[in-house]
Amino acid sequence: MGGRDEVLQDFAERARFFASLTDIGVARVSFAAPATAPSGAAGPSGEEGLQAVRDWMGECTRCRLSAGRRTIVFGQGNPRAELMFVGEAPGAEEDAQGLAFVGRAGQLLTDIIEKGLRMKRADVFIANVIKCRPPQNRNPEPDELLACQPFLEAQIRAIRPRVLVGLGKFGAQWLLKTAEPITRLRGRFGEYEGIAVMPTYHPAYLLRNPAGKKDVWEDMKAVLRLLGRMS
Ligand code: URA
Repeated sequence: MGGRDEVLQDFAERARFFASLTDIGVARVSFAAPATAPSGAAGPSGEEGLQAVRDWMGECTRCRLSAGRRTIVFGQGNPRAELMFVGEAPGAEEDAQGLAFVGRAGQLLTDIIEKGLRMKRADVFIANVIKCRPPQNRNPEPDELLACQPFLEAQIRAIRPRVLVGLGKFGAQWLLKTAEPITRLRGRFGEYEGIAVMPTYHPAYLLRNPAGKKDVWEDMKAVLRLLGRMS
């Protein structure tokens, strides 16, 4: 195993260890029913797999964001989607409704999916790196990212999409395990556990910088080509 792979494996193991510690310390689960990750490579997939991840998460209190949230935003869509979008964290509207990307940025994401990709929003899966709204929509902190990491890992393992789209810095950097800026990452396929990853701009960024939409459209065309939906 190369140096980079070892670092990545170490990082993933630490995250799982952190989550298991906080399961015991904060969620006060019974020792007779330890909270273990539900889906390994051979674990349940699709709807059953996602339900196992949701059950594992429970009424999560593994990090401080639980104190300020109204709802856990698990993510939603087709449990066997070919295409999965990964954003940053819920905002106010998402926190209120318990659904990912339902505010203004969500409306733009819907347009990207339905008008751009010509797919139904219900046919893709949409999730975030962080499942609870950070106060005042601040950036997620490293320990919050670490505490939530095992859940997105398990969601991706359950859905097993053909393509992942990393939205903005947090979605893209999480999937590609890199600190490179999104301006350098976007437009080039990377890989997450054998799944193609397209990093692109976050819809919230596009609301402030509409000129970036043409780049996102280029990225989406590359996704369509990879999915065999465009020649
Ligand atoms: N921004 C995100 O990254 N995710 C959401 O769910 C909403 C806004």
